[in-house]
Amino acid sequence: MSRLVMKFGGTSVADLERIRRVARLVAAEVAAGKQVAVVVSAMSGKTNELVAWTDGAGRAAEGLAESDAEYDAVVASGEQVTAGLLAMTLRNMGHDARSWMGWQVPIITDEAHGRARIDDIPADNLLAAFDKGEIAVIAGFQGVTREGRIATLGRGGSDTSAVAIAAAVGGSCDIYTDVDGVYTTDPRIEQKARKLARISYEEMLEMASLGAKVLQTRSVELAMAQRVPVRVLSSFVEPGEAPGQGTIVCDEEEIVEKRIVSGVAYSRDEAKITLLGLPDHPGVSSTIFSRLADANVNVDMIVQSRARTSDIANMEFTVGKRDAGRAMEIVNAVKAEIGFEDATVNEDVAKVSVIGVGMRSHAGVAKTMFGALAEKGVNIQVISTSEIKISVLIDAAYTELAVRALHAAYGLDKL
Ligand code: ADP
Ligand code: ASP
Ligand code: MG
Repeated sequence: MSRLVMKFGGTSVADLERIRRVARLVAAEVAAGKQVAVVVSAMSGKTNELVAWTDGAGRAAEGLAESDAEYDAVVASGEQVTAGLLAMTLRNMGHDARSWMGWQVPIITDEAHGRARIDDIPADNLLAAFDKGEIAVIAGFQGVTREGRIATLGRGGSDTSAVAIAAAVGGSCDIYTDVDGVYTTDPRIEQKARKLARISYEEMLEMASLGAKVLQTRSVELAMAQRVPVRVLSSFVEPGEAPGQGTIVCDEEEIVEKRIVSGVAYSRDEAKITLLGLPDHPGVSSTIFSRLADANVNVDMIVQSRARTSDIANMEFTVGKRDAGRAMEIVNAVKAEIGFEDATVNEDVAKVSVIGVGMRSHAGVAKTMFGALAEKGVNIQVISTSEIKISVLIDAAYTELAVRALHAAYGLDKL
């Protein structure tokens, strides 16, 4: 019997009517003879509300950041509610179903509260539920540390719960959301975005880590490493209607139609820090970036250039917006030690990226990108590239303009 993990995001379980719709989708898979486990998110908006409550209770003021077990105790509660409600709804439809919290499965995580990683999922309990013909409805986003505390997996983490459970039970994973697949870019920004029938794990990984929040980055990493078959599809189907094919996330070799660029992603979650008048000698970057790393601040793009005056350099780098304040404190703390002139931070920036495995073998992708942005008068502040993506940092006000211009420049509206 094939095993399937179905994951439903916040908008898919936003109210009781939608939970009933989810229950019908689950029932259809059970009727098709599959052993089904379901992973649910909190009702849409709930996690934001819970996070705001923890801020209000003094989490931010006390500087506890996210590494707080009590933060997790609060924000994990949203998923508990939906797991119970869906299990109840399924039972009322005549199915054998029960809810499972992360600690009951158990989904064992490390101790990094607020952004924990899954270490292990012993599959025995879920396999026993399958054997009994019971539908396991699992609270997403949460697990339990070896110390026995509730931990959460970072925002969007229910995707990762679902993929990890699929890997643990040897099943495939269907991610149901409010769009019917992975698009060439965020369909909320570009109406001409096209649905991709298939996307490679690698491209999906880049898309997710560069801002396309349709799948949490870690979930794609896991799917790629464990070879979990993943589909993204819409839960917004009427009774009796099939959810369609969605998008299949798979190996590159399984994709027949070859594209140079598959998608455009954007992120407004960036802040740029500029250091002017740095002494240009060995050890300067090492000091700055090791201090940032010690404070758990992730650095993304980095550029350094020699100023006109010899022995003087300027440097720019980006960090996540929520780390910007901390990064500036660290930079200012090493100012005297290093001896640079000035440090400034700019939070009005966005990163826009084009992604495609075809870049490995085709020249001219950067030329098209820079040409399209120049034509719209969008200034590029920082550039970074990898084998299958090019990212630029621009003024945040131009994000949508840039996304649409690039989408058109690579002909993605005509796929
Ligand atoms: P869920 O609550 O189901 O987890 P999310 O809001 O996390 O849903 O992710 C779905 C959203 O991702 C879509 O509504 C869409 O706006 C956004 N998105 C961004 N980029 C893309 C893309 N390339 N393809 C599809 N959706 C995208
Ligand atoms: N509810 C959590 C969040 O909003 C996890 C998830 O939905 O994936 O981040
Ligand atoms: Mg999500």
